[in-house]
Amino acid sequence: MSKIVVNKPIVDINGDEMARVLWNKIKKELIFPFIDLNLLTFDLSIENRDRTNDEITIESAKSIKINKVGVKCATITPDDKRVKEFNLKKKYPSPNGTIRNILNGTIFREPIIVKKIPKIVGHWNQPVVIARHAFGDIYKSKEVFTRNGGKLKFLYEHKDGIKEEIDIYDFESDGVGLAYFNTFESIKDFAYSCFNFSVKRNFPLFLSTKNTILQKYDESFKEIFDTLYEKEFKKEFEKKNLVYQHRLIDDMVACLMKWSGGFVWACKNYDGDVMSDLVAQGFGSLGLMSSVLQSPDGKIVETEAAHGTITSHFRQHQNGKETSTNPVASIFAWSKALKHRAILDSNNQLEEFSINLEKFCLETLNKGYMTKDLALMCGPDQKWITTNEFFNIIVSRIKN
Ligand code: NAP
Ligand code: MG
Repeated sequence: MSKIVVNKPIVDINGDEMARVLWNKIKKELIFPFIDLNLLTFDLSIENRDRTNDEITIESAKSIKINKVGVKCATITPDDKRVKEFNLKKKYPSPNGTIRNILNGTIFREPIIVKKIPKIVGHWNQPVVIARHAFGDIYKSKEVFTRNGGKLKFLYEHKDGIKEEIDIYDFESDGVGLAYFNTFESIKDFAYSCFNFSVKRNFPLFLSTKNTILQKYDESFKEIFDTLYEKEFKKEFEKKNLVYQHRLIDDMVACLMKWSGGFVWACKNYDGDVMSDLVAQGFGSLGLMSSVLQSPDGKIVETEAAHGTITSHFRQHQNGKETSTNPVASIFAWSKALKHRAILDSNNQLEEFSINLEKFCLETLNKGYMTKDLALMCGPDQKWITTNEFFNIIVSRIKN
């Protein structure tokens, strides 16, 4: 079998712990033997981020910007315990946040649906893709305690010096207040990302807000999405028989439970934070959740598994024990990155390889060969295999 030749590089971001073990195995067993590929590898292990004062993270993001395709392994976001464990110079920020800010992208979280694996919400038989607007709102808010009463006001100073003052509340006792913001530019980029993703994925798009209450703030989201749809995406959506709709967040939550999936849900920042965990749980396993960071124009893509570095399994691995860790979301990160490279380069052979890689994973799971996390969801009679055994099956499927 001759190797598939890929002319342009993919940015490969390595990470930490058990996710790194899976990562190296995927490259060695599923990619390199079959694809002649130039990987631009950045080591984002916590040790190397510390060594480079986190410069490596910024470099990796810049490289994705240039090369358009990145694939990322899970990385440790250090907390106080990790700072001690690795004797770090400082508590570095989440690499995902750094990369997202540089690429100015939106994260789309999509579950991998496997027929054989029961879901907590049984009738969700197509993916619900959550798109989270990761800018502003409560995450950049300022809060204030009011003591012994007093007036809380809003002050907006125009550039030309004109001031607008709005009374918020006249307190008679202790209380608390909050202010937050967003920018039209960021909302517009978010809208572009969502429309482009829906077109590419062939899924309808729903935006949720509470614009009946927030008639300026949330209404701005609706207006920006509506305008962009009318101006730039309506024709393409209609051609593909796709719909775009704005819905109230409470109505959307009800629809989520009622419908069987198969749509992209554009969420405001906090809604996306909450809903992505709810949807992940509803579909079952973190080991089956994939994540794609996409630029507004849809041309730059970074893929990853949504789970973390799976520390508990890494401890077993360090003790020389074989683990049953689910590699499927990490394998799908690779297949999705290869697919994006294939589409950009019009490389049919590579596209076929990426489609088959996903197909082999799903077929293997549906035949009942799965890791422990998934077996536990299937019930007491379901047997499980080790990670190594799972890889062996996939390798032999690719070869035959
Ligand atoms: P986690 O690594 O996702 O693991 C949480 C638990 O979920 C595991 O202990 C395991 O349960 C189960 N699990 C997750 N993925 C699995 C898989 N592929 N196969 C089988 N079981 C799986 O989350 P965490 O323990 O909260 O975080 C660990 C580290 O990852 C942290 O340092 C955090 O900063 C980092 N993190 C990174 C990212 C990222 O880079 N995108 C995302 C999240 C967290 P059992 O132990 O019960 O088997
Ligand atoms: Mg959350």
